[in-house]
Amino acid sequence: MLKILCLVFCALLLSSCTVQEKKTISAKEELTPRFHRVFCWGRPTDEETARRYALSGVTDIPVSNQKQYDLAVKYGMTPYAACFTPGGPYIQKVTPEEEAFRRYIGGRDLDKKLPRKERDKIIHRRRLEKKYRYGGEKEVEMDVLNEGIHCFISDTDFSYSRKRLDKILKQAVPGVKGIYFDYIGYINHKGCYCKNCLEKLHAFLKKNNLKDTQANRDIFYGNELVKYYNKAVDYVKSKRPDFKIVAHLYPDFQSDPLFGNRLKVDYCGQTVAWYFKWKQEKIARYTRFVVERARENYSFVEGIPFLGISSSTTSSLGYKTPAELEKELQTILASGGRTLMICNGHVMVEKGYFEVFKKYCNPAGKLSGK
Ligand SMILES: [Zn+2]
Repeated sequence: MLKILCLVFCALLLSSCTVQEKKTISAKEELTPRFHRVFCWGRPTDEETARRYALSGVTDIPVSNQKQYDLAVKYGMTPYAACFTPGGPYIQKVTPEEEAFRRYIGGRDLDKKLPRKERDKIIHRRRLEKKYRYGGEKEVEMDVLNEGIHCFISDTDFSYSRKRLDKILKQAVPGVKGIYFDYIGYINHKGCYCKNCLEKLHAFLKKNNLKDTQANRDIFYGNELVKYYNKAVDYVKSKRPDFKIVAHLYPDFQSDPLFGNRLKVDYCGQTVAWYFKWKQEKIARYTRFVVERARENYSFVEGIPFLGISSSTTSSLGYKTPAELEKELQTILASGGRTLMICNGHVMVEKGYFEVFKKYCNPAGKLSGK
C-alpha cells in the first residue's frame, strides 16, 4: 500500500512539475520582448523579397511604383512615398580642407578611365584609411560626407524644397500613407559656410549679443536644422494632412546627435547603432534617450531606434556578423526599444541576418495571423 501511495505521490509530483514547467515557459514567452514595428530603408521589389521583408518584421516600407505598392499591401506592410531630400540654390559650402578630404575619399582626383572595380577598391581603401564614417558619428575630427546636400538655409522662401515635395506628392502611388525624409543635415556635420549662411549666422550672433565661437555657431546651425525640418513637415501636412512623416536624422549633427525631439516628424528615426560597431553601453544609452525623451516637445512623435547594418566584408561601410546583430537587437530591446528602423534594408532578407530579425521581430500583417 505504501508503495502504491508512493507511486501515486511521485506521479502527482511529476505531473505538477510538467504543468509548472509549461506555465513557466508560457510566462517566459509573454515576458520575452519583441519588436512590433520596423521601418525599413529598402523596397519590396519582387514577390519573394516582399514576403521575406514581412516575415523578418518589416511593417513600414517606401515604394517606388504600383507593383511595389501592391506587394507591400499584399504582405500587410504600410507603404510610403520616397524620399524627400532638401532643395536649395547650390550644394553646401565647407572649408577648403574639408573639400579636399571629400575629393580624396570620393576619388574625384582619380583617372576617369580607371575600370570601375579598380576605382572602387581605391576608394574603399582610402575610406578605411581616413576612418570615414559615411555621415554617422565621427571617429576623427576630419570627416565629411561624400554626397552633396543643398544649402537648405539659403532656400529662404522654401521654393526649391517646395518644388521637390510637390513632385513627390504628385507622383506618389495613390494609397501611400506618408513620406520618408532623408539627408537633412550638414555634410561636414556642423554647418554650411556659403556667403548667405555666414551672413545669417553673423546677424544671429549680433542680434543675440553672442561671440563667434563654435558653441554659438552650433546653436545657430542647430536651430536652422530644426526650423527646416519642421517647415518641410508643415508643408507636407498642409497638402496632405493624412500623411505621416518618417525620417532618419542624417547626416549626424556633431554637437547634438539626438535632437529629434525638437522635430514634428511622426516617426523619428535616430541612430542608436551605426554601421560601425558601437559599444553596447552606448547603444543602450542612446536607445533609452530616443525612446524615453521622444515626446518632450510634441506629444504625437514616436522615437524610433535606427540601426545601420552592412553584410559586405569588402566594403568600407563596416560589417556585422549575424551574431553581432543579435547582440545589438538584444541591447535595444533591453533598453526599452520596441520599434526599429533599418538600413540597409536588404540585409534583413539575407541568409543568416533574416533568421536573426525573424527571431526578435513580429511578422507583419497577415503573416502574423492577425
Ligand atoms: Zn549655405
